[in-house]
Amino acid sequence: MRRYGNFINNVRQDAVQGGVLILQNPSDGSDLAVIARGTEADIDLAVNAARNALSGTWGQLTATERGRILHKISGAVLREIDTLSELEAHDVGKPLVQARADVVALARYLEFYAGAADKVHGDTLPYQNGFTVLTVFEPHGVTGHIIPWNYPMQILGRSLGAALAMGNAAVVKPAEEACLSILEFARIAFEAGLPAGALNVVTGLGAEAGAALSSHAHVNHISFTGSLQTGAAVQTAAAKNAVPVTLELGGKSPQIVFADADIERALPFLVNAGIQNAGQTCSASSRILVQREIYEQVIAGMSERYRRLQAGAALNDYDLGPVVSRRQKMIIEGYLQLAEQDGLQIAAQGAIAEDAPQGGCYVRPTLIRDVPPQHRLAQEEIFGPVQVIMPFDTEEEAVALANSTPYGLVCGVWTGDGARQLRMAHAVQAGQVFINNYGAGGGIELPFGGVKRSGHGREKGFEALYGFATMKTISVFHG
Ligand code: NAD
Repeated sequence: MRRYGNFINNVRQDAVQGGVLILQNPSDGSDLAVIARGTEADIDLAVNAARNALSGTWGQLTATERGRILHKISGAVLREIDTLSELEAHDVGKPLVQARADVVALARYLEFYAGAADKVHGDTLPYQNGFTVLTVFEPHGVTGHIIPWNYPMQILGRSLGAALAMGNAAVVKPAEEACLSILEFARIAFEAGLPAGALNVVTGLGAEAGAALSSHAHVNHISFTGSLQTGAAVQTAAAKNAVPVTLELGGKSPQIVFADADIERALPFLVNAGIQNAGQTCSASSRILVQREIYEQVIAGMSERYRRLQAGAALNDYDLGPVVSRRQKMIIEGYLQLAEQDGLQIAAQGAIAEDAPQGGCYVRPTLIRDVPPQHRLAQEEIFGPVQVIMPFDTEEEAVALANSTPYGLVCGVWTGDGARQLRMAHAVQAGQVFINNYGAGGGIELPFGGVKRSGHGREKGFEALYGFATMKTISVFHG
């Protein structure tokens, strides 16, 4: 079993207190790697390394030079795509083809922010006679990045790319379930020319390393992606130091299908957006709302696709892999038991592949029909390959249903009526609306984030750069 240390100031090192954690391979339950169990002392070292980078080489670079370094890292990531994607597939359990797509997305984030680094600029403002007033953007300083296990490569890329482009120095706390690709990425970034201390990675438990990062007095911004409960704890800890926080939380995102939609085009999106990454996607479409005239037709089309789905070992590239852990499998199975207990009807299920190893964390993809809108399966984020489908009659009813959960991350609308497309786009509560398409997790260039309990702040796209900077106003009196 390979052993990984923390990555601080360009040096791999064991946790200060010497603790370790063992990662499991969700495809077969075997032990995969040993990682450091970082604590407050390791976070302290990492934050100090980042502060030194800001007052050293990294902090002296121009925006153009930072962009050039990000470009080099992007190229290096693509050259090491085999290493990174195999680690990601083993660690998260995602099919290799998806893991490769995630690594390509990481490289694209770095490429996008490389190009954007020297294009963020301030303004001059009209003011009183005898004054010139201007605004400039400055980095926050040390940025903390708390990453979940579902898309380590992509989620690292989107927040780290923007943070480094703006001149911050980063401390990353990956999830304890899956962090190997991020540790490997740190090596690649430094070999490609990132100065020491600009990126530090501390692994460990959320309650130890994560909590220490969110409450550290010298961290100046936190980007958190994960669950509502943890996000609230992180925001509370950061508030004690008046540190700004970006929260990218969960969702219960609907796709709304009207009777005038192109159903054949919609069907693959309806299913894929629910089972991609075994449903462990924040922007997964876990609710399908269908106008009654075409309700049975859509169920039949989705069911036919469901019956062909297979879950198997990550490296065997089935439609979906295992879920990330035994704990996650138990949570999802708990929801399926609740559905059975409450007499909900399964419309269709996929299968677990015959060659799926014993000991793996496999869950059959499941479509459940006629779920009452207030039922827990229609309200709570299951974070597994389970979709619910329910009918509606009018546009008003569709809007009310779409907005009826605590979340507001993404919404898909399928209709051929142009006026309705825009009415719906305005009426639904979501950070992103897709009309006649649905991009679960996609769109490097597109600002992304939630409303309501799905969080606040925006990552991805050019917009994210402003979140990783602070605006300074300079007023000059010259008479
Ligand atoms: P989680 O909140 O349990 O963990 C996320 C991260 O927070 C991990 O790195 C964990 O170690 C850390 N953490 C845990 N306790 C902490 C604490 N007390 N202080 C600081 N850090 C702590 O979430 P998860 O189970 O890893 O991820 C699933 C959730 O993440 C889902 O709700 C999903 O929707 C959400 N998510 C959202 C997005 C998005 O972009 N909106 C993307 C991916 C996942």
